[in-house]
Amino acid sequence: MLTDAQCLDLMSRLGAAFPDARAPDSKGGGDPFRSVVSCMLSAQSLDRNTAAASRALFALAATPEGILALSEDQIATAIRPCGLYNVKTRNLRRMCRALIDDHGGTVPRTRAGLMSLPGVGRKCADIVLSFTFGEAVVAVDTHVHRVCNRTGLASGKTEEQTAKSLDIRIPDAFRRRGHVLILAHGKQVCKSRAPRCDTCILADLCEGRTKT
Ligand code: SF4
Repeated sequence: MLTDAQCLDLMSRLGAAFPDARAPDSKGGGDPFRSVVSCMLSAQSLDRNTAAASRALFALAATPEGILALSEDQIATAIRPCGLYNVKTRNLRRMCRALIDDHGGTVPRTRAGLMSLPGVGRKCADIVLSFTFGEAVVAVDTHVHRVCNRTGLASGKTEEQTAKSLDIRIPDAFRRRGHVLILAHGKQVCKSRAPRCDTCILADLCEGRTKT
């Protein structure tokens, strides 16, 4: 694992390399309910497909009550672009029901509250906390998980374990932008199948370089 000083060095380099990095539209937005829904739709889906599914669904309904008033077929047809649409339709309906029954129709602002919703895991909860509620939280998705474990920035066998590790190790100065910076590096340089170690700005720090 990297030392605290190395973690700060690594994040500072990413900050300089990706000054304009920002979250895709599917992760942001001012409306908490839309953010939760979009995050649920994003599971195993490309950003552009998630965006298409979200647009189609929100054109029909954008409230828990509105979505519950739709038939399962209507929901599944709208969200078809993001895949797994039957499972996601069921989870969406269960999440909407729980929001109304347990939270008065309002999206909770805590990680525990968000994770109590059916179909909402830690990644989804942290994305909503970070990009909708503005909390200083670094969400860990598959890209962040991979980069953290390769470099030695944080460790964990699962995304949730890595999120807990990263929460302790990330320098405070990078809690707000940590996700987008690590994500950008993971998508553009430290790719899943062919990491570009030869030209990577983290190569001298990275613990995983020789293994990839
Ligand atoms: S040196 Fe290679 S494994 Fe390490 S962060 Fe860079 S691309 Fe990823």
